[in-house]
Amino acid sequence: MKKHRTVFNYFNKLSLIVLCFILYNITFVPAQAFEIKKQYSTSKKILTSEEVSTQLALADKYKRSNPTKFKQLIFELAQQKTLTTEQRHYLNLLHSYHLSFIGEYDSAESKIKEILHSDASSLIKFRANYALITISMTTQNWLNGLQYVTKNINALASINNSEHYQNGLLITIIFYNQIGQYTLALSYIEQLAKQDLSAKNDCWLRQLTLETKFKLNELKSGNPALEDTIQKCITADNKINTNIVRTYKAKLFLQENMPEAAINFMLGSLDEVRSTQYPMLIAETANIIAKAYWQINDIDNAQLYASEALTINNNMSNLLQGVDTYYLLYQVTKQQQNLALALDYFEKYAEVERNQLEGEKAKHLAFQIAQHQSLEQKSQIKLLNKKNALLVSEKALAKAKVANVQMFIAILTVTIALLVLWGGRLLQSHRQVKELAEYDALTGIYNRGHFTQVTKSALKYCKNAQQDLSVIMFDLDHFKLVNDNYGHACGDWALKATIKVCQDIGRQNDIFARLGGEEFCLVLPSCSIEVAQLRAEACRAAIEEIITEESGCDFSITASFGVTDVKRSGFDLDKLLADSDGAAYASKHAGRNRVTVFQPAATDETKPLDNSWSVVS
Ligand code: GH3
Ligand code: MG
Ligand code: MG
Repeated sequence: MKKHRTVFNYFNKLSLIVLCFILYNITFVPAQAFEIKKQYSTSKKILTSEEVSTQLALADKYKRSNPTKFKQLIFELAQQKTLTTEQRHYLNLLHSYHLSFIGEYDSAESKIKEILHSDASSLIKFRANYALITISMTTQNWLNGLQYVTKNINALASINNSEHYQNGLLITIIFYNQIGQYTLALSYIEQLAKQDLSAKNDCWLRQLTLETKFKLNELKSGNPALEDTIQKCITADNKINTNIVRTYKAKLFLQENMPEAAINFMLGSLDEVRSTQYPMLIAETANIIAKAYWQINDIDNAQLYASEALTINNNMSNLLQGVDTYYLLYQVTKQQQNLALALDYFEKYAEVERNQLEGEKAKHLAFQIAQHQSLEQKSQIKLLNKKNALLVSEKALAKAKVANVQMFIAILTVTIALLVLWGGRLLQSHRQVKELAEYDALTGIYNRGHFTQVTKSALKYCKNAQQDLSVIMFDLDHFKLVNDNYGHACGDWALKATIKVCQDIGRQNDIFARLGGEEFCLVLPSCSIEVAQLRAEACRAAIEEIITEESGCDFSITASFGVTDVKRSGFDLDKLLADSDGAAYASKHAGRNRVTVFQPAATDETKPLDNSWSVVS
């Protein structure tokens, strides 16, 4: 009986103390803190949205360190009418902490469920869910708790806020410890250990690890991890965790039959424990001291500390923390021969223990746990699969992206190269086509087609501007003989040389064309017949003077010229060409190598010459 009671007590007292610790540290604050009787001044000030956010964050922060301020802030915020929907959800969450804290679990739970069914952010919902886990543990509704834990585990993967991610892991570890699923608890302890932990959470992790090991009977009072953790928690300024770990060590002293060591150890920190105002820790410490005194037969001190524990535990009547205390008081009063009181304590003890060990509930819990384990595994596998699938698809996506980019670059490069090539070719062929279309291949001057086009627009311009325009036509003399006597190449050379000398004495805007064979035409816009005649004469002389030896052949070149202008022939191109050609023919006829100005016949319509507009030479 004694062994059973001892093991039972350790388990349940640990559960209770850790549970209350969660209330204090993760979600709620100790009930005593709200006992402070303070009237809150009603704030009339209307806060801006930013101010509301600041106040909400402040309240969230103070829920641990300053419960009075926390309560004041949430009451003031509740009076504000300007809260956004999200701020309202946040305030409701904080309010649910308050309700849990004052023991109104049903109201807290329904408020939290409202948040879970609302459009609140995923982080607020996540926090609301782990608040539900805490309530489930407090009210010992393990069935609900298991469901909330599963939800919590599934949601963890998508939580980026490291503080709440770590809190989500902490609550999972605590829950599994509570229901005796230490292996699962350890797996989440491992997860938490991988996180970048604050000093506070590092202390938490170490404390929970020790709790798990304690429950698995893997700890001895001399284990250095105990002192190590105590030191870490002192550094983290976490008095409650520090002293929870001290209770493990003291219990180990008791288990190892060292009651004096337990008394000395616990009395050394009793003042600090009392200063926390944390009822369950004070009760737990008092119970351990009482038990230690009982072991050394110091009945008075055993009764003194057991009574302190009972007074404090009475304030938390919903929790079944009195087992140790009632059993001790039963033993003490029996020893004192106060049998009536002893019976009373024993009945209370028996009732509490019976409730705790209630077979149906234990079976149900075991069943639920068995079910939950498979659920847990499924959700873990699902989570892993999800993560892996995500990883694979991310990799595939990254690969595809790289391949796409590479392909795009390749296509772009090829396209640009083709465009450049095609553009170059196009430009080249365009030039070629243009040249073919516009220029004579041998001499480089305009061909007949282009000459016609350019001359027509020159005529149009000169006509509109009342400008003069002259035409010089010339044909090489006896050119057939040159070809015949010196070869076609010499003939070609002669053609090119003729053009060159004529161009040298020409002007920029002369229209110079090869009309066919060895027949050429020079159109001189804004040029009088007199000047044109002089130009024709200069050309004739220049051709005559060509030194043909350069071609490798020695021959002479001459040409016969015919000249006309718009005054004689009018602005019609065909007429101008025909008249200048006629004049050139006249030159041939007159003996070649000469210039003839077209003379219109007396009956011609253009007679007399139209001199009504000034001629620019
Ligand atoms: P005329 O003084 O009466 O004009 O006598 P001609 O021999 O110049 O006249 P004809 O019309 O009988 O001969 C023209 C010659 O011009 C015939 C042709 O061989 C030559 N010819 C035409 N085009 C070219 C050419 O591109 N290159 C060469 N080398 N000869 C050409
Ligand atoms: Mg000729
Ligand atoms: Mg000819």
